Amino acid sequence: KISENRPVIRQLDDGAINRIAAGEVVERPASAVKELVENAVDAGARRIEIAYADGGKTLIRVTDDGCGIEAEALPLALSRHATSKIDDSDLLDIHTFGFRGEALPSLGAVGRLTITSRVGREDGASISVEGGSMKPVKPAALSAGTIVELRDLFYATPARLKFMRTDRAEAQAITDVVKRLAMAEPFVAFTLRDVTGGGEGRVSFRVEAENGDLFDALHGRLARIIGTEFAENALRIDASRDGLRLLGYAALPTYSRGSSVAQYLFVNGRPVKDKLLIGALRGAYFDFLSRDRHPAVALFIDCDPHLVDVNVHPAKSEVRFRDPGLARGLIVSALRHALAEAGHRASTTVAG
Ligand code: ADP
Ligand code: MG
Repeated sequence: KISENRPVIRQLDDGAINRIAAGEVVERPASAVKELVENAVDAGARRIEIAYADGGKTLIRVTDDGCGIEAEALPLALSRHATSKIDDSDLLDIHTFGFRGEALPSLGAVGRLTITSRVGREDGASISVEGGSMKPVKPAALSAGTIVELRDLFYATPARLKFMRTDRAEAQAITDVVKRLAMAEPFVAFTLRDVTGGGEGRVSFRVEAENGDLFDALHGRLARIIGTEFAENALRIDASRDGLRLLGYAALPTYSRGSSVAQYLFVNGRPVKDKLLIGALRGAYFDFLSRDRHPAVALFIDCDPHLVDVNVHPAKSEVRFRDPGLARGLIVSALRHALAEAGHRASTTVAG
């Protein structure tokens, strides 16, 4: 009698495992877009085109001109924990956005996924996965690069489907994600298209590859995304300390905002929302801004991957510095220095 009711431990099948993992990696259409665009950047793309329909609920398609995936490797790209980006021996040595090998299998578990890819002059091929089961690889025609198409996100998980917001809100979230990624990649061209209802659709965001050195390119890209007013009021920041480099632009206190909407922070190219870094910003502007004003900045911290752990959260918007005080100190001192110097210049101009 007792044995009949005893819970039985058994191994979950891959489909169930992928759907559970997908819950962490893919919260909404914008998170799918983030994963796919990051993959395109990791593949060295110079041009990335993103199309979505119905707020990304029925279709997300990311096309890139990156390195492509060999036909034989397509099934592997869709397998769990399969990645070309890290070495088993050094989980902290991360130079790419991806490293978990989780995005594609997760997306394949919660939507209808097709990857079409071509490496250089080789023949192209495509693979589809639906409801977690892979179809055989087929030949396909395309130019070098990769097209990932995700249809009917969450069709297999109706509970998730219910939590999605209006098409408009989801489209807005997609636009925000694409803009953030585009800030960190000024030499890459991005096009975002709303193709609801079919056809060519409507371009909702587009930036061409910027020219010049990193600072020129970044300045141009920020002007196009945050606005020319930000760019005109922004101080160039470039400082280093003990293996950490801080670069980017920080606006004059006179160009502050009533909320923190214009605070863009990146660690090793990843958009982050990190309490420590936001606190450091606050500290840097403390003497220059009243309490209800927020500085506008686009700042990039670059360091050896060993000095920061980006493995804290699957969505990867939190990071953990090996030496948090160092990151904070660098931000506070570099910004205070730039602000003081700008203030000094302004007052000497007035006096003169
Ligand atoms: P991760 O990015 O963590 O490695 P993904 O599941 O996102 O995991 O991708 C699995 C693998 O598929 C990647 O490591 C990469 O080799 C390949 N891949 C995915 N997207 C692309 C792309 N757009 N271009 C070239 N290769 C890709
Ligand atoms: Mg990835």
